[in-house]
Amino acid sequence: MQAILSAESEGQAILPSPLQRLHHPLLTLYGVELWCKRDDLIHPAISGNKWRKLKYHLLHAKEHGKRHLLSFGGAYSNHIHALAAAGCQSGLRTTGIIRGEYDAVSNSTLRDARRWGMALVFVDRQSYRRRQDPDWLAQFDAPDTLIVPEGGSSPLATPGVAELIGEVPFSPDLWVLPCASGGTLAGLIAGKRDREQILAIAVLKGGGFIADEVCRLHPAAAHIPGWRIALDHHDGGYAKFSPALWQWVQDFSATTDLPLEPIYSGKAMWGLFRELAAGRIATGSKIVFIHTGGMQGLAGLREQGRL
Ligand SMILES: *Cc1c(COP(=O)(O)O)cnc(C)c1O
Repeated sequence: MQAILSAESEGQAILPSPLQRLHHPLLTLYGVELWCKRDDLIHPAISGNKWRKLKYHLLHAKEHGKRHLLSFGGAYSNHIHALAAAGCQSGLRTTGIIRGEYDAVSNSTLRDARRWGMALVFVDRQSYRRRQDPDWLAQFDAPDTLIVPEGGSSPLATPGVAELIGEVPFSPDLWVLPCASGGTLAGLIAGKRDREQILAIAVLKGGGFIADEVCRLHPAAAHIPGWRIALDHHDGGYAKFSPALWQWVQDFSATTDLPLEPIYSGKAMWGLFRELAAGRIATGSKIVFIHTGGMQGLAGLREQGRL
């Protein structure tokens, strides 16, 4: 993406992202080795999997003369935040279609997005549900516009995510990551070596649809073995978390010196340790956990008094 970012922002992205070895007494107990791929550190504003997923969308926009990116998200969306920043740095106009009606928006995610020049359009939940319906989308289409699906999850996201695999200087037995729409998981499946396994932790309730979505985004995934989605670590649902989970996350962060938030990375790490405790991961495994970023979400949780 550096090539399409403006000169003053070049070099801001840290690639390859750092790989951090994690030390924790439970890892010794379970006899596994755990590393964290710190994609949260790729870029101060375009973090984690959103950077990976946007890269080829931006290249596509450039190649096809698109000057305007339009996408969808909730009021605290990491994707909306990243897209606004990426558009600002690449000289592309951006529009965010935001779920919910707000007359005075003062949350930090949307404040940043506005500051980076994003036009915000608020739609009611009923309309928002039609975000994949071509008839509804037609009102936003224009020759200079690239419509990016919610979360940046489209087949264009796959190659950018797959690139992270080559940045790790060894072949792990197991990759672990949080998943919601499945776009990041699809990219990882596309890029993994045959022997490598993937455990995706669904951060939402009712994640049965995710496997189908992965196969829609990357049809070859249906025939690639070695990946599974754990559906029972959602802790109540998307963006929900118990005081116990948040306490666990804070303790884990303090022990390992790894910053986490409770919606994606913290919940997935908690899920991984529940899988380890249940004996579902082989002793001796060398594991790489992908920190998908999203640390900007902590500010929103604090503003809402939820932490
Ligand atoms: C969006 C997001 C995810 C979910 O990724 P999907 O590709 O939708 O599965 C995971 N982690 C973070 C930090 C995110 O912002």
